[in-house]
Amino acid sequence: MAVAVAAAVHRTALGGGSVPGASSQSPAALGRLPCPVHCSITTQRDSLCLGSGLGQGSRSLSGSSSRRRPTARQGVAQRVYAIDAAQPFDMEARLARAVKAEARLKIGIVGFGNFGQFLAKRFKSHGHELIATSRGDYSAVAGELGVKFFSDLDDFCEYHPDVVIMSTSIISTEAALGKLPLQRLKRSTLFVDVLSVKEFPKRLFLNQLPVHFDILCTHPMFGPDSGRGTWEGLPLMYERVRVSEGKPRRKAVADGLLEVFRREGCRMVEMSCEEHDRQAASTQFITHTVGRMLGEMGLSNTAIDTKGYESLLSLVNNTANDSFDLYYGLFMYNQSATQELQRLETAFDRIRQKLMDELHDALRKDIFGPKPITPEVLPPSKRLSDSSSAQSLNNGGGAKGSVKGSTAPNQQQ
Ligand code: NAP
Repeated sequence: MAVAVAAAVHRTALGGGSVPGASSQSPAALGRLPCPVHCSITTQRDSLCLGSGLGQGSRSLSGSSSRRRPTARQGVAQRVYAIDAAQPFDMEARLARAVKAEARLKIGIVGFGNFGQFLAKRFKSHGHELIATSRGDYSAVAGELGVKFFSDLDDFCEYHPDVVIMSTSIISTEAALGKLPLQRLKRSTLFVDVLSVKEFPKRLFLNQLPVHFDILCTHPMFGPDSGRGTWEGLPLMYERVRVSEGKPRRKAVADGLLEVFRREGCRMVEMSCEEHDRQAASTQFITHTVGRMLGEMGLSNTAIDTKGYESLLSLVNNTANDSFDLYYGLFMYNQSATQELQRLETAFDRIRQKLMDELHDALRKDIFGPKPITPEVLPPSKRLSDSSSAQSLNNGGGAKGSVKGSTAPNQQQ
């Protein structure tokens, strides 16, 4: 009823359905124009003003479109794209629920270890449906998290997830992908990886996945330790390697997945996988290497810890829980890592060399440099009588030479 009234008001305001001042040939007349009464209402000449529709054409609010179809008597009608007038029923909430159900993704995680579980918890909290598979049996922990666990890869794929996230160790990803029965997945599946290196999975996906699968490479630059609490401000690197932009549903799936990170407050960094690896070698790989080196030293708290030392301990803690497979993957599967390791080694050698040079200088001065000679160091028979003569022993180059010269007369005695 209220809709019918609103529609009537708009038709009146717009001059009985026609757009005043717009000729029938004018492109403006065919496009969207604002309603002069309800300034948030945008209309189009060939559709009916219904107070809703939100770009869905002439669908009626009551669900029956035939009642709203323009008649010859009504002439040209308008389509409403937006309305800010309060509605007598909870349309906004109904739409929101409908959108939410549509945006709900079925997400399948391959590799349900440390990081796979960490991601599953957060994705679940955003209302998505989670399934998982792994080499080991994680059915108990998955059950606790509300995640459906499949030990069988065929069953996992036949559940038809919208998204498959590879969260396997870097070094096992190629083998794990090779074992997936891809033909059992639906054709529009989006493949995502979260590996800490990026060029390798990008190439792997492009080489191994059929063209009807979309590809999104991501790297959450945090883990179960650094991202235990909020994700606010933590970087999420991603590259839309192959997302069918022309197909709205496919784009929506990729956007929906990224939306989880966006809503968590992550800093979204769109970057090529190649650039990621160049930058990560000198940041992430070096961080892990230094953390592991310090870990090897078995550092622990003392009563006089400085802020700097506390940061070192927290670096050790942040890297110690990651598997060696992960660290080895950072080295082996990033082309820039070897060069960075070399740079780290060279830097350490240079610092050590500087220290050794200082030490040698001091030692050599001690061995070969001038020494203060006091009369007391000489045997009584060789001491000079006056102190000024003793002073002269200390001047000049070699102490030995001076002593020799001065004592020559005594020796002759
Ligand atoms: P990880 O040691 O790198 O990977 C463990 C996962 O790999 C487990 O799910 C394990 O499955 C699976 N896996 C290992 N070897 C396998 C094999 N031969 N065949 C099949 N599956 C195998 O530790 P993670 O921390 O869980 O990392 C997972 C991925 O997330 C890695 O690619 C890592 O680079 C990435 N990532 C990790 C972090 C982090 O902070 N941890 C942050 C960002 C990205 P089973 O347990 O069933 O054996």
